[in-house]
Amino acid sequence: QHAERLQKVIAHSGVTSRRKAETMIEEGRVKVNGKTVTTLGVKVTPNDRVEVDGVQLTKESRVYFLLYKPRGVISAVSDDKGRKVVTDILPFVQERVYPVGRLDYDTSGLLLLTNDGELAQLMMHPSYEMDKVYVAKIKGVPTKSELQQFKRGIKSEGDVLKATEATIISVNKEKGQSIIELTLHEGKNRQVRRMFEALNYPVMKLKRERYGFLNLRGMTSGDYRELSPHEVKQLR
Ligand code: URA
Repeated sequence: QHAERLQKVIAHSGVTSRRKAETMIEEGRVKVNGKTVTTLGVKVTPNDRVEVDGVQLTKESRVYFLLYKPRGVISAVSDDKGRKVVTDILPFVQERVYPVGRLDYDTSGLLLLTNDGELAQLMMHPSYEMDKVYVAKIKGVPTKSELQQFKRGIKSEGDVLKATEATIISVNKEKGQSIIELTLHEGKNRQVRRMFEALNYPVMKLKRERYGFLNLRGMTSGDYRELSPHEVKQLR
């Protein structure tokens, strides 16, 4: 029988990422055929019985969903404060899916959810350079040279945050607000908000409109759909 590393088998079953699976093993949370394993070199075959936190792994089929996340929802599978989480929006999905990356609580827009740990890891890696297109409503009206600054990179809390595109969509002079479209390849924590804040433009509203070739066309907030096999292939 074909043997694979234990952490890979756990990640593939959709429980968690490979890195976190390694931590779970080291923490003594994983058993193989009833025996706790705490080292990372162990290989298993489909004949071995693997348990994580006492629950036996079953081979779930891999599923992929595109969610139009509403504002006011946490990008996680549970919340210790009892707030609404993204998986609450997909109650009929039996598989244990989790979000690929995060959108802030107050950010709406395109979020992928899957139980395919390998693809999720790939997509969250810094070298995965799909366009992420955000539309922000901000207080103030940035200048052209400030938009150029976004492309050169903006220093914030020890990071240099970059946009590959920055475009003014519209300006409301009376209200002193504008709508800006930013395209990022990176996905650092609160990146769009931090970029605008660094230039003193508070973000009032933020939405992710596009992720590579995937967009929200035909969807409204709270809608979700399964990706087609062709779309999944394109993500790899
Ligand atoms: N940038 C942000 O500031 N917030 C998000 O949710 C996504 C990108």
